[in-house]
Amino acid sequence: MTTPTTQSPLEIPGFTHLYSGKVRDLYVPEGRDDQLLLVASDRISAFDFILDPPIPDKGAVLTQLSLWWFEQLADIVPNHVVSVEVPDVVAGRAVLVQRLEMVPVECVARAYLTGGGLREYVADGTVSGLALPAGLRDGDKFDVPIFTASTKAPVGQHDEPMPFEAVEAEVGVARAAELRDLTTRILARGNEIAAERGILIADTKVEFGVDELGRLVLADEVLTPDSSRFWPADQWEPGHTQPSFDKEFVREWLLSPGSGWSKSSGEAPPALPAEVVERTRAKYVEAYERLTGHTF
Ligand code: ATP
Ligand code: MG
Repeated sequence: MTTPTTQSPLEIPGFTHLYSGKVRDLYVPEGRDDQLLLVASDRISAFDFILDPPIPDKGAVLTQLSLWWFEQLADIVPNHVVSVEVPDVVAGRAVLVQRLEMVPVECVARAYLTGGGLREYVADGTVSGLALPAGLRDGDKFDVPIFTASTKAPVGQHDEPMPFEAVEAEVGVARAAELRDLTTRILARGNEIAAERGILIADTKVEFGVDELGRLVLADEVLTPDSSRFWPADQWEPGHTQPSFDKEFVREWLLSPGSGWSKSSGEAPPALPAEVVERTRAKYVEAYERLTGHTF
């Protein structure tokens, strides 16, 4: 497998490096093939590029926020967490998890129309092949969250939308229904909780694995600013792009004339200015603090 980062993974005594994704580094504990140490780095990705420089504390925010959500969702779905006792070098940003057979589908649920869903809707009147009523605007809320899966592309390639029939073909009819049900319930529950804290979760991506008994287990990260779009509820106003707590901020800078970068160029984006790094860090920390009620 490729290691798509210039930072080489840490040497962690007692653990063997297995794989590095865009954000996380995976290690196998010696003598425990059934577990993984999942270490969240401070790397930030946008448009499938890993950006430079990293965002200080981002790995810890993502890890702590996911742990908090896993607990809030425990009655909906079991999760992969085994222990938060981890080596000091990765304290706060790593978790020991059950090593699962990952389901080869990125499970996306959308509560509001925006982003890639909006682009498809404008072009075809559908989102992930689902026909929707005419006249919806950027930021409009769906009656119920919809499930819009995508393929899990290898590092360096882009995820492609996956119509529900394709999910059924990939994992079977019953399992596809289970994925859809769990994913939309996670987003619905997330929104119930976030609403009390003044945040709307427009959409989110989750990943499931299958344990040794064949059960679906929630893995990876959940309801973080990396995997979700968080909007301040008091500024929600359909009809244009919503202000957000997540990396839309970085994406907006990259797409602005100021960055000098063109998405269609295929070239790596420029380094983020210090101000964008600091404001992005502040957004991640604010999302964590508002949702959990804890001080970071
Ligand atoms: P994506 O953008 O889709 O999240 P990524 O390359 O950013 O992809 P990372 O989050 O950096 O992925 O890396 C985490 C990797 O660990 C993913 O490949 C994910 O599927 C995998 N993973 C997460 N939890 C588990 C688990 N419990 N067992 C096995 N693999 C897992
Ligand atoms: Mg990931």
